[in-house]
Amino acid sequence: MIYKEKNFNDRTKPPRCTMCNKILNEFDINGDFSYHKWIGYGSRYDENRLDLELCGECFDKVVSFIVNNSASNPLKEYDERQENGYFVRYLVNKEEEQIMGNDFDSIGLKHINSTEDMVNFYNNHLGCVNETIVGGEKYSILSNGEGMELFFYGDSEKVWLNYCEPYYKPEQTVSVISKKWVRPDGNNGQNYLQVQLTEYDIPLNVCVPDFYKLKDIKAKSVKKMDVICFINYINVYQSEEDFQNDYSGFARESIIPCGVFPANPNKNFKQDNTMIMNGKIVWVKEKENILGGGKFFHVGVECLGVVFEIVIEEDFTQDYNTPLEIGNIVHGLFKLVGKVVTQI
Ligand SMILES: [Zn+2]
Repeated sequence: MIYKEKNFNDRTKPPRCTMCNKILNEFDINGDFSYHKWIGYGSRYDENRLDLELCGECFDKVVSFIVNNSASNPLKEYDERQENGYFVRYLVNKEEEQIMGNDFDSIGLKHINSTEDMVNFYNNHLGCVNETIVGGEKYSILSNGEGMELFFYGDSEKVWLNYCEPYYKPEQTVSVISKKWVRPDGNNGQNYLQVQLTEYDIPLNVCVPDFYKLKDIKAKSVKKMDVICFINYINVYQSEEDFQNDYSGFARESIIPCGVFPANPNKNFKQDNTMIMNGKIVWVKEKENILGGGKFFHVGVECLGVVFEIVIEEDFTQDYNTPLEIGNIVHGLFKLVGKVVTQI
């Protein structure tokens, strides 16, 4: 196929956005939101040519569509700094990405990276498993007797091991003002209790792993919970100044309930149990998981009058320069998991 050159009239017309037909302004043109590609065999558009000239707004729509339909986030934020007269681009949150993710490591369960690993671990510790049947459905809890519990869910016949909700018992029980159950996926999926933990009216979703036992209780009857925070990412700072260098404008003690409210109202938003929290370390304990073979840190972080208890994998000390020490400032994205202690 031969690509037809633009004719004279096309060239004299002002450039327009392919999608919304708006005349491109200076920012749209300098931003260069264009894409030109011959399409090859394997696509139903084989032998076609794609020529997109987009305005900034339509480009954002295309990127949002890709991000929302991607298994892994193809967007990475870079920071531009000047070094010896050159501009250098740094990947923002590089350290955060490295530590993303594994809740099992956070409670000293080493080497559980796949369903197969979990099946082996489960079968090697059947003596620690308690099976319950509620309403004809099976659930099992694998406990190490020292605060770690792994929740598995099932059906009438068996428990499925490919989905596990880990939990670790905190030192202190916290009072909650509970609001409602939040179940974004209906009957299949995670169950959150929306609560207020601080004296400020900040709603937070807490994932309740033993929800199956609580299905019939009213959310508002819950008064006390054991809440533990798993990390999505965490940064620790030795001084207010270091903290403000990275997060200027954030209060040293603050919470953003990002799992309850969308950061961007245009994006597809599904509630979850995350929060961004900044606080001060008030205690640190080194722990070991006798079943998992790994050490981890159990840390109390004070924020807005509440001590949030966080579990962090041992490798933290190797990956970070700033130690987990009393008085240091923590910034991070955390997942709240909790069990109901008292209800009326
Ligand atoms: Zn447009």
